[in-house]
Amino acid sequence: MSFHKHLHIVGAGVAGLSIGWRLSQAGWDVDIYDKGAAGHGASWAAAGMLAAILESEPGEEKLLPFLLESQELWPDFAHELETVSSHAVGYIESGTLFAARERDDMGILRQRHDYLSKHGMILEWLDRAQLLEREPCINPRAYGALLSPEDHQVDNRALVVALLSACRKAGVKIHEYTPVEEVLIERNSVAGFVSKGHKIPAAHLLLAAGAWSGSIKGLPENFLPPVYPLKGQMLALQMDLGKPILRHVLWTPRVYLVPRTDGRLVIGATMEDKGFEEVQRAGSVLHLLREAFEILPGIEELPLIESWTGLRPTSTDDAPILGGSGIGGLSFATGQHRHGILLTPLIAGVMAEYIDKGILQEIAAPFTMARFK
Ligand SMILES: Cc1cc2nc3c(=O)[nH]c(=O)nc-3n(C[C@H](O)[C@H](O)[C@H](O)COP(=O)(O)OP(=O)(O)OC[C@H]3O[C@@H](n4cnc5c(N)ncnc54)[C@H](O)[C@@H]3O)c2cc1C
Repeated sequence: MSFHKHLHIVGAGVAGLSIGWRLSQAGWDVDIYDKGAAGHGASWAAAGMLAAILESEPGEEKLLPFLLESQELWPDFAHELETVSSHAVGYIESGTLFAARERDDMGILRQRHDYLSKHGMILEWLDRAQLLEREPCINPRAYGALLSPEDHQVDNRALVVALLSACRKAGVKIHEYTPVEEVLIERNSVAGFVSKGHKIPAAHLLLAAGAWSGSIKGLPENFLPPVYPLKGQMLALQMDLGKPILRHVLWTPRVYLVPRTDGRLVIGATMEDKGFEEVQRAGSVLHLLREAFEILPGIEELPLIESWTGLRPTSTDDAPILGGSGIGGLSFATGQHRHGILLTPLIAGVMAEYIDKGILQEIAAPFTMARFK
């Protein structure tokens, strides 16, 4: 095994870029390969919600401390990245509202409240008047809401731009439109990979290829991370910056709306198991607009400025896949599902330490490949 600290990374999303940046800070040479434009996978498509608390559901108890730990890292991470890159990342501590538009929604809110309170999370009940005081443009027929004061947002596209700049400043080489076609393995260790038909020797390789991680060629089937694409469709409207109709991140059980500082109002998202299909469907756009209109009728007048799809890297148990692969020199950082933006600071730190020192922090221990064996 080579002791030269040179890491090759497959995938220039938030995972590959943030881990590459951290390792370059630790003295590693880093090359990142992307089959397309860097940062334009799920990391570009996301809504940027940092919703460790509200987005936690029964059955995800093991994941909750991991999400919360990353949420705590965000203020310092955003500050450091902005300072190093000279790019703002749009981290806003606005809190998140989970509103009940219909009577039945109150039951869903109550269930989420009870589950989260049992795990020590602090949520505030707002009645209709309190909700409208905070967000006057919400449909006055809404029943009330839960306020999660610690769930915030970052502008994920600005995050990608900042990470790219930080990487480049640190000397990380980013190879766009350069797919990794096959991983080469010899005697159960990484020997290199094939890109554009050329064999490139490599002793340390990180697979951070998002939704495509589970279908990379060259790995024996039982060593492949069990990751599949989970499609999401999204829209953006443009609010009048002088008169924004929403200030908090706003959810109902059927839609979410995320107001950015530049007036964009991001609306999402569907969850569809449709393989690698990235086409947009009228029915999904209709669903998103109808549900957004139901809770925030003022959207009717706003310009529709963009619509897009993205593929979440989802593992078979919806939790991330981190650490070693069982093949010497090959590590994984994938499977972040709905939480990859939220988890960026923690996964960057955990994986950089793992690759540099061979130590996997205790908090990441439940998320290795070992759980699938
Ligand atoms: C609609 C939607 C909304 C979301 N909202 C949120 C949210 O609000 N909050 C949150 O925390 N998370 C959210 N997520 C999840 C989050 O976006 C992802 O978990 C995260 O971006 C994954 O980052 P990544 O770097 O692993 O993957 P990606 O950003 O997909 O990057 C992987 C990269 O690998 C490249 N690649 C793939 N195969 C190869 C290959 N063979 N060779 C070279 N390059 C390759 C791809 O081109 C891609 O650029 C959302 C996701 C979607 C789709």
